[in-house]
Amino acid sequence: MSDDTIFHRIARREIPADIVYEDDHVFAFRDIAPQAPVHVLFVPKATVPTLDAATADQAELVGRLALAAAAYARKEGFADDGYRVVINCNGHGGQTVFQLHLHLLAGAPLGRFGT
Ligand code: 5GP
Repeated sequence: MSDDTIFHRIARREIPADIVYEDDHVFAFRDIAPQAPVHVLFVPKATVPTLDAATADQAELVGRLALAAAAYARKEGFADDGYRVVINCNGHGGQTVFQLHLHLLAGAPLGRFGT
């Protein structure tokens, strides 16, 4: 499992991405293969390969991902309509990039989860 993923390279601006948010701890950019009209990935700047690998001292960082997504939804004006956040973990969870990230999906009714 690499600690230099494609998301690290996006953070270093080595790979182009449409970065929509950044602070000292978190950055966010549009997914290259959107699964909804709005599909933004929120990623910690610190290396955390999976949610499973997150430690208790990273609890605040994990919370920051969720709160950054919520603030973005509010700022962009779709918080009241609603949205979904998803973190895929490891193989059965469908994780393909092994740097923790939170998917923010919005812009249309998404249907019941798992259907
Ligand atoms: P995962 O399946 O690991 O939860 O999600 C990885 C996400 O990263 C996928 O939705 C995929 O489309 C997105 N992705 C993979 N490579 C790139 C890239 O180079 N740029 C951007 N913007 N998104 C990417």
